[in-house]
Amino acid sequence: MKIDTNVFSAKFPERCQLDLCRSRCCRFGVWVDIEEQKTIIANQELFVAYLRPEAKDQKTWFGKTEEDEDCPSGLAIETQDISGACSFFHPDHGCALQKGAVEAGLHEWIIKPRFCIMFPLVVSEGELTVDDDMKTLWCMKEKNRTRPILDAVKKEVEFLFDEKQRRRLYAEEMRIPAVKAARRR
Ligand code: SF4
Repeated sequence: MKIDTNVFSAKFPERCQLDLCRSRCCRFGVWVDIEEQKTIIANQELFVAYLRPEAKDQKTWFGKTEEDEDCPSGLAIETQDISGACSFFHPDHGCALQKGAVEAGLHEWIIKPRFCIMFPLVVSEGELTVDDDMKTLWCMKEKNRTRPILDAVKKEVEFLFDEKQRRRLYAEEMRIPAVKAARRR
């Protein structure tokens, strides 16, 4: 995987603030790996109780499938937009996949799609980069972006990348002159 140097210079807010952003990133649904879809369906008893009434039917959760070389399986499937939000979004609970896992005493991201955990980082055409497409989101507005991304999403990076990938990421980061200088201070 290539790494875009923007990953080391771009910023993100200090922390997510759902009262300000109103989870607008969940408005359109998301592309998930076909293997993640299987995991979600196999664990539906964990989260169905937290779905909106209009999103309870499993047949409505997923839409189109497309080839995607950035997915480990090579196939991605979209989560459907139901009444203006991802099929797994609930205004009271946020992501029902995360809520269901937490309530069951499991890791909060165990069935959540990788793409959602990773945002605003994204793997596109084999390169780890920053997803700057959704500029109208609260977290992507320049004035709110005050903290280096890799610092802001450290917990997510620790969860998603294995030790070898993390070591490589941090080694690349240390090659950036500005990061080196900041570490010396
Ligand atoms: S799967 Fe969860 S986090 Fe991802 S877009 Fe849907 S509701 Fe949001």
